[in-house]
Amino acid sequence: MTAAIDPVLAEPPPRFTESDAVRLAAATFEVGGATARNLGSERDQTFMLSDGSGTPLAVMKVSNPAESVAMLDMEAQVVAHIGTVDKLLPVARPWRVPGADGAGPGVYRAAIDGCWVRMYDVMPGWGRADPVEFDDDAIVAWGTTTARLSRATRGFFHPAAGRVMPWDVQHALTVRPMVASIGDAGWRRTVGRTLDRYEAVVSPRWPHMRAQVVHGDLSTDNALIDARGRITGIVDFGDMSHSATVIDLVAALDSLGTGRVGDELLRVGRLVVDGYRRVLPLEPLELDVLGELWATRAAIGVAISSWRVVNGLEDAEFAERYNPTAMEMVESLAAVGWELESSRRRPGRAGLPLSERRAAVFGSGLEALSYDDPLEVLAAEGVWLHGTDGRRYLDMYNNVPCVGHAHPRVTEAIARQSRQLNTNLRYLHPAAIELAERLAASCPTELDTVVFVNSGSESNDLAWRMAAAVTGHRGGLCTSFAYHGVTEAIAALSPETWPPGYTPHHVRRWAPPDAYRGEHLDAGAFAAAVDELGDLGLAAVILDGVLQSDGVIDPSPDYVQELVGRTHAAGGLWIADEVQGGHGRTGLGMWSFERFGITPDIVTLGKPMGNGHPVAALITRRAIAAEFGLTQGSFFSTFGGNQVSIAAATAVLDVIDDERTVERTRVVGGQLREALRQITADDDRVGDVRGVGLANAVEMVVDRTTARPDAVVAAAMKNSLRRHGVLVGTTGPNGNVLKIRPPLAFRAEHIGVFIDAWTAARASIGAVTVDVG
Ligand code: PMP
Repeated sequence: MTAAIDPVLAEPPPRFTESDAVRLAAATFEVGGATARNLGSERDQTFMLSDGSGTPLAVMKVSNPAESVAMLDMEAQVVAHIGTVDKLLPVARPWRVPGADGAGPGVYRAAIDGCWVRMYDVMPGWGRADPVEFDDDAIVAWGTTTARLSRATRGFFHPAAGRVMPWDVQHALTVRPMVASIGDAGWRRTVGRTLDRYEAVVSPRWPHMRAQVVHGDLSTDNALIDARGRITGIVDFGDMSHSATVIDLVAALDSLGTGRVGDELLRVGRLVVDGYRRVLPLEPLELDVLGELWATRAAIGVAISSWRVVNGLEDAEFAERYNPTAMEMVESLAAVGWELESSRRRPGRAGLPLSERRAAVFGSGLEALSYDDPLEVLAAEGVWLHGTDGRRYLDMYNNVPCVGHAHPRVTEAIARQSRQLNTNLRYLHPAAIELAERLAASCPTELDTVVFVNSGSESNDLAWRMAAAVTGHRGGLCTSFAYHGVTEAIAALSPETWPPGYTPHHVRRWAPPDAYRGEHLDAGAFAAAVDELGDLGLAAVILDGVLQSDGVIDPSPDYVQELVGRTHAAGGLWIADEVQGGHGRTGLGMWSFERFGITPDIVTLGKPMGNGHPVAALITRRAIAAEFGLTQGSFFSTFGGNQVSIAAATAVLDVIDDERTVERTRVVGGQLREALRQITADDDRVGDVRGVGLANAVEMVVDRTTARPDAVVAAAMKNSLRRHGVLVGTTGPNGNVLKIRPPLAFRAEHIGVFIDAWTAARASIGAVTVDVG
């Protein structure tokens, strides 16, 4: 069984006396007249050498005879490497053997009495601290130093690092035979179960983890500390190996958790991790298995020490001193499902289905869940949403993740910026200014002034306030079934959410063109609505450039130009709401108003702007912003323009440029409509297929002759498509319009997936005949 085990492990340490040590020191490194004190060590012997007055001179290590010189040389070389990466990291430096020639690592060791002797600088501080005494700051700092150490060794290479040592967690399963040496039956079971868990959960994922040469054991046994518990010396590199990067953190957790149990253990663990993350962010996989790695490390220690004691290699009292606390650590971690962070523990603890808990805690005011069979989501990338049911769904609904779910450029921009700085626009910082310049440059030249806010609603609210302030008028106009947001002012301009029978006294609606039925094609309805405002006067008209809530409509440039002309003639401002149609959705420019050939007075941006990160903006003319400032005082939004939101929004624009998203959207949108028209050509329940770019709609009707809207068949299709793996929504005043509005990461290759699902979904709802017309 020892075949796989490092020979050093099976070898007792050298047994020199303190007076032997004085002799060795003089004979090898010419340290004369010294006294020596044995500092204790599992595998080597370590002596503190002092002069006659007790002043420390050096630390001498006498290596286990089984230790290979390659290991010793690797230790010398890594210290030199660390010095080139992080000079301030307090690592003990080896001495050159007096008279030794050359520059190789051999100059740091001297052979004597069958052993190797190395001499090190004395580091300041105290050794073998009890981590229970550390305060929180010391614990966080320990995590940070651990990460600095991992960072400092990650560029280091040495062939000897490939060694197999059982306390390196990657070789955890080699300690299985040692478990039998554990005296306590309960502990034996716990260690066995921990190794089982490791084998099942960690082992298969090990090859996916970041790997490097690690120190391997930054514990309180291998570090000196000052009075505040900060590391002043890292003194032992004898456990180095090529392993997972996260192993240094695991060793720190194992050491700092000593003497702590339950919630306190987990709390301290989280503080260590926080400290570590200040320097090295953890990868998701590392975080996923951290609890298991920690428990495994603790369990390994119990198995190895028990085995060494049983085999007479070590004294039980010293070797097994950490075992009781190690077992408590393992139990504490197992009890919380191996997750340190409560937010990462698996849901469902409360026992109730999530939908019931949702209803109980959010109340009935929140919009209902999508689909008869609501989707519990887990993750997403590109155009795919992954459910907890193990299926992936083609997302043809969500326009917010415009460049695709979890686009790495955007997620990384957010993470990187939030590590560096996140504050407000009262300080100078170039990012928001540059983005504002870029947004202004993307609009007609008159639109030169930008305000950053946090949501489409806020942006529209501000637009409305500006329009009212600048015009002195009080009336507003929106389309019949528009939606523009949640604030009091904007809910008034969002008839989609008005309660039945309610119309705010200052708002009039006009019916947008319905080309399918040939209704409202001219500006008559609009002109009438303007007139109806009477003495209120027209402050603003707000239009979503793709009329999403009205059923996805693509009005003609002539029509919109006429409306803008009439708006200005009535003394009102034109607000182009780009929350839906912006960021390339139409495939005909960055902003949906561009295709109308108009210059709005105010442009509002939201939803896709941060690809899911909350950020919104308003772009207007200098004079409007100035006039608003004069009448309303200054404007400031705490989060508006914060560096993280700006980083997200900037990354989105960059990706749109780099991936030529607008052009692709134009092409793929056309192909999608074409495919839909073909597949529905003979379907009497499909009245109209329409759209622009990737803002598309299929209008479901009772039959093509009457063109009566049929919301039941639309809902049935929506739910059936969900069952067949494609997500769409319904919209329009009659709820009969399927809205097909995927992330702009949607590509031609996804059309086939959609069409197949459509065919299957349509077949499976064939029997639906009820209509609500
Ligand atoms: N304008 C339009 C056209 C919208 O579709 C929405 C949201 N659906 C908003 C404004 C409001 O945006 P938010 O929900 O970010 O406040």
